[in-house]
Amino acid sequence: MKLGNYAVVYHKGGKGKSTRAHRVIAELALGKPLPQGAVVHHHFGDTNTKYPRQLVICQDQAYHMLIHARTRIYRVGGNPYINRICSTCKLLKLVTDFYKVLSDKHRYECLTCVKERAMLWRMKKKKKN
Ligand SMILES: [Zn+2]
Ligand SMILES: [Zn+2]
Repeated sequence: MKLGNYAVVYHKGGKGKSTRAHRVIAELALGKPLPQGAVVHHHFGDTNTKYPRQLVICQDQAYHMLIHARTRIYRVGGNPYINRICSTCKLLKLVTDFYKVLSDKHRYECLTCVKERAMLWRMKKKKKN
């Protein structure tokens, strides 16, 4: 367990459903208070799981969102290194189907959606004129 980008903490099921409890458990496991801005991610949303819950301590909210994005990709059978899910059409696509430069890191829109949006925008503009 290290705290570079994140640390993983295991704890048995039972009580502690709240994020607050997760923070306490994470701090106990770390043996020190959580770093400033750290976010505790509850790896298993399913509370009925028999397995110990996995708490992932993220260095910040941005890293936390990255974990969620990766989890979504794994769930649909993709590979986070080569796939992305389009925020608009929700389809799993290759990273090469996305623009490299993005203004918003947490929103990925595929080229098809970007083009479609541009087309709709142009059509709207035409109607107005
Ligand atoms: Zn989370
Ligand atoms: Zn799309």
